[in-house]
Formats: sequence, structure tokens, C-alpha cells
Amino acid sequence: MSKVLIIGAGGVGRVVVHKCAQAKEVFRAITLASRTKAKCDAIAAEIPHTFIETAQVDADNVNEMATLIRWEQPDLVIHVALPYQDLSIMEACLATGVDYLDTANYEPRDTAKFEYHWQWAYHERFRDRGLMALLGSGFDPGVTNVYTALAAQKYLDEIQEIDIIDANAGSHGQPFATNFNPEINIREVTAPCRHWEDGHWVETPPLATKRSFDFPDGIGSMNIYRMYHEEMESLVKNLPTIRKAQFWMTFSDNYLKHLEVLQNVGMTRIDPVEFQGRKIVPLQFLKAVLPDPGSLGPLTKGRTCIGVVAKGIRHGREKQVYIYNICDHETAFRETNSQAISYTTGVPAVVGAIMMLTRKWHKPGVWNMEQFDPEPFLKTLGSMGLPTQVAEGSAWLNLT
Ligand code: NDP
Repeated sequence: MSKVLIIGAGGVGRVVVHKCAQAKEVFRAITLASRTKAKCDAIAAEIPHTFIETAQVDADNVNEMATLIRWEQPDLVIHVALPYQDLSIMEACLATGVDYLDTANYEPRDTAKFEYHWQWAYHERFRDRGLMALLGSGFDPGVTNVYTALAAQKYLDEIQEIDIIDANAGSHGQPFATNFNPEINIREVTAPCRHWEDGHWVETPPLATKRSFDFPDGIGSMNIYRMYHEEMESLVKNLPTIRKAQFWMTFSDNYLKHLEVLQNVGMTRIDPVEFQGRKIVPLQFLKAVLPDPGSLGPLTKGRTCIGVVAKGIRHGREKQVYIYNICDHETAFRETNSQAISYTTGVPAVVGAIMMLTRKWHKPGVWNMEQFDPEPFLKTLGSMGLPTQVAEGSAWLNLT
């Protein structure tokens, strides 16, 4: 029985709190802390019969974080605030001797760089303190890493190519809105595309490569666009037989039209500009005027389908396997007051926490998800609402 400290009271934080409260056999006590305490209190009030402690913290401030951890004495910090806070929270965990888990890799505020080297540099310090940090325990990164590990372990003798495909086949009915933090989402989508091919990264313009993919379970064909995504970096390092790795995401024509205009007029810039005597970052201003992703929950209908097509060799012959999950927005909302994007991130964060706290996954150091046995994780993930589907060698696996 463990105590957990959750940082971040956004869409993902809400799901994490709901799911930890459901898993009473693991979580003895839950504290939710964030920059705005009122948001923590609102989430805590949604959950009957469970006492959730709440607190205010600026997680950019290592001392403030460390003071909170010393006061709360958790067994694990689940960080679901923003990627900017990864390093300060890791520092605070080291200072106080507590394990760490997050769902997105560190990004400096002034450049949209999605790289693990800042966090991997903490490996020796965590190892020497006997502490564990689990990086990227969301869906993508997160479950997609675990699916890739499963493909390599169970379905292929040698894994050679992966296509990670993320579809939101749902709609919120708004002219333009992002499904998670708009600033983080738009930084990611507008960054140059990189994919892995024959031992190096190939850079192409953002969203310049378009294909269509026939999604299963009646979702049907949708356009997918190639972009960079952080899990490819750890996957090609930890599974070095992968010769080609690509990441694809669906975008509606309407989303792309709005994004193009916003980019053209400079609203997605992340460098400060002078406005009425003060400096503002256009993308941060845009975030302030866009719908809060949390408000989309009751409006969003349809499903997500996120998975990995892995190709390689099995018994001397070429083989492919598609491992995926389908999640329904309205079902997720009924359970946790959040749509499927937050749900598919928050549930794997809790499952990662359960793996660490029950010692099914535990070793000192800084680790990515594919470095552990996929089976216990996926078993618990399924029982907590995100079942895994596997299709071997079907015709619709081809990207056309
Ligand atoms: P939100 O913007 O909805 O929530 C972020 C929360 O963090 C807010 O409550 C915010 O507080 C809080 N916060 C921000 N800065 C600080 C700070 N300095 N100190 C304390 N709290 C702070 O984001 P989401 O819930 O949508 O996303 C959370 C995380 O999940 C992000 O890192 C995102 O990248 C990641 N993610 C990962 C995915 C995956 O599959 N791996 C998919 C989707 C998201 P306030 O309300 O006061 O601003």
C-alpha cells in the first residue's frame, strides 16, 4: 500500500486521480498538487468516498517541490504537469529520495526540441541513489513503446520497421481546439518532421508526408501525416534492429486549415514579441484564447485508435503485426470526466505507477518503457480500461 504525489491538475491529472482512487489495493493515500490549488480541489471533489489531499506548488522551483515531497513523504511522484517541469521535479526527487514517473520528455521553453538526452543524463544519479525514474508512461510515448517491445518479444524474431499510428477518430464540434495542452500540442505538430532510416534521422518539413490508413473496428480510412514523436528516439536506441521508424497522426482538413493560418500570421511562434510595452509569446497567448481542452470532454464523441505496425522476420519469413487499442471518448468521459486523449494518457501513467510500486518493474536508474517486460503492464492496462488488440498479417496493414 503506497502513497502517491500527483503533480498537475489538467486533463491528464484528473484521469490519474480518478484511476488511483479506483485502485485502492495499491494506493493508500493520494495527494494532488498543482500551480492552481482550486483546480486540484475541483478534481478531488469529483471523487466520492476517497480523501484526496490537495496542495499548491510551483514545480519549476526545485526547493518548493522538495519541501512538498518532504512534507507529503510519498513513495512515488507522478508528474503530469508540463514537460518544462521534468528536470526540476527529477532534481527534487533526487534531493528527497523518491521515485519519479512522467508522460512526456523534457522540453526547453525556448526551443521545441523533443530529446531524451537531458533526462537520460540523470541515469547514474538515480542509479547511485537507488531510485527509479520511468520516462514517458502515457500512450504515445508509453503504451506504443510497450507494444513495440511486445512485437519484438512475442511476435517477431527480428523487428525491423515500426509505424506508430495515432488516430483521433472523434470530434468535439469546435472550429479549432486541441485535445491536450494547446501550447505543447502545437509545438509538437509544427516542429520539423524526423523519421529514422538506416541508422540516421531524416528531416522533412512538418506534416509534408501524407498517407491514408484503414483503421479497424469500423473506423475506416483516414488521412495520416508523418511527424516526429519522442518515443522513436528511445525505441531505435533500445531495439537496435529497427531500421526504419515513423510516426503518423490523423488531422482533419479543418484542423490543418486553421493551423496553417495561425502559422502564417505568426501566432504559433514561441519566441517573445513586444506587445504594448511587454514581451508576450504568441503561442502562449493563443493558448489563452483557445478552448480549454478540459472543456471538450462533454462535447467529444467518437473513438481513438493508437497502435504500432511492426514488421520483421519470424521463422525466416517476413511478417507484420498490428498492436493497437481503441478508446471511446464518451465512455472515458462517463468514467473520469475526461475525453479519451486524457484517458489514454492518464491510465498508462497509473499502470506504470502500479508496476513500480508493486515492484513488477523496478530497477534503479532512468528507464524508458520498452526496457521492461510488456506482459504485466498490458495485463493491468487491459483490466483498467485500455485493452490491447493484436492483428497478425492482415491486408489493411499496408500504408497506402
Ligand atoms: P494541461 O495543460 O491540461 O494541464 C497541465 C497542468 O499542469 C495544469 O494543471 C497546470 O496548472 C499544471 N502546471 C503547469 N505548470 C506548472 C508548474 N510550474 N507547477 C505546477 N503545476 C503546473 O495538460 P494535460 O493534462 O493535457 O497534459 C499533461 C501532460 O501530459 C503534458 O506533459 C503532456 O505533454 C502530457 N501528455 C502526454 C501524452 C502521452 O500520450 N504520452 C498525451 C497527452 C499529453 P495551471 O492549471 O495552473 O496552468
